Amino acid sequence: MDAANSSPGPVEALRRIAFLLERSRAETYKVKAFRAAAATILPLGDEVAQRVEAGTLRELPGIGAATAEVIEAAVAGRTSERLATLERETGGPLVEGGEQVRAALRGDLHSHSDWSDGGSPIEEMAFTALELGHDYLVLTDHSPRLKVANGLSAARLGRQLEVVDAVTEHLAQTGAGFRLLRGIEVDILDDGALDQTDEMLGRLDVRVASVHSKLAMEPEAMTRRMVAAVRNPLTNVLGHCTGRLVTGSRGTRAQSQFDAEQVFTACAESGTAVEINARPERRDPPTRLLQLAMDLGCLFSIDSDAHAPGQLDFQVHGCARAEELGLEPERIVNTWPVERLLAWANP
Ligand SMILES: [Zn+2]
Ligand SMILES: [Zn+2]
Repeated sequence: MDAANSSPGPVEALRRIAFLLERSRAETYKVKAFRAAAATILPLGDEVAQRVEAGTLRELPGIGAATAEVIEAAVAGRTSERLATLERETGGPLVEGGEQVRAALRGDLHSHSDWSDGGSPIEEMAFTALELGHDYLVLTDHSPRLKVANGLSAARLGRQLEVVDAVTEHLAQTGAGFRLLRGIEVDILDDGALDQTDEMLGRLDVRVASVHSKLAMEPEAMTRRMVAAVRNPLTNVLGHCTGRLVTGSRGTRAQSQFDAEQVFTACAESGTAVEINARPERRDPPTRLLQLAMDLGCLFSIDSDAHAPGQLDFQVHGCARAEELGLEPERIVNTWPVERLLAWANP
C-alpha cells in the first residue's frame, strides 16, 4: 500500500471492526474472530499481502471468510463493506451531550482484562485507551473471592503487576507519555473488609472497592459494610454503589438498600471518590443518589468498567450524566493529571 493511501491497513481494519462492535455492545463471540485475526496477522508483515496474492490467506489459523474479506480489501487499499457499514451505523456519538466533561478526562480508573472476566489481553486494553486520548488507564481486575469472574489471588496479582509494568515500559518507548496503572476492583466482603491482603493493596496505584455479593443484605448491615470499606485508607473509589442493573442481557436487578447519606458522608470525609459507573446497563448511582453525593461534597470518578477495548468508549455515558447535573470537572478525579491522581490515591 502506498503511503498516500488513507484507508486502514489490515490489522487496523480488523481492530476497528472489533472496537465498533464492542462499543455497540455486541456479544464477545461476535468480536472474537476479528481480534483473533488481527493477532494472527500482526507479526506477519509483508507475508499478508503475499498470501492474499497467492490465495493462501485462509490457511492461516483463525482466518475465515469474514476476516479474509476485510484483510483482502485492506491490502488492496479499500475499506471493506463490513467496516464501511459498521462505521455508518455505529460509528457516531454514543450519547447526546457529555462532550465537555469527556474532553476534560485524562484517564479511566476501572477496566478489566482477560486475566479476570474481560475479553482482551492487558496490552490491547492499554493500547486502545492510548488511542482514545487517555494519559492513563487503571487495570482493575477482580479479587480472589469473585470466582465466577476468575478473580486474581495475591500470587496472580503479583504476576500481573510485572505485565502491567512491562506494558507501560513498552508504551513509554512510543513517546506517547501514556501509563498503565496498577489497580484492582476489590470485593467488599460482608463485614466491610477488602478481599485482598493489605500488602498487595499497598503495592497498587489505585483501588476500586465494590460490592458483588449479598446485594440484598438488610440496609443497616449494608450501610455498616460500605462505610467500613470506604473509610479503609486503602480504598480510593467506591465502585457501582447500588449494584443495580437497569437493562441488558443479564436482566435487571434492584439497587441495594443502604443509608446513602451515611455512606456518602463517609466518602466525603475520607476522600474516597464515588464512581459514576458508565456502563449503560448499570447507570449507577441513580440520579437521586448522584445528586445527594454531589450535595454532600464527594469526589467522583467517571469509569467505563470496560470488559473489552471498545467498551472504554462507554465513559461518555457517565460524562453526559455529570454534565447534565452540573458536576464541576475539578471534582472528578480522573480529570486530574497522573501525578495528582497518584498523590491523592496514595497519601
Ligand atoms: Zn464490579
Ligand atoms: Zn468492574
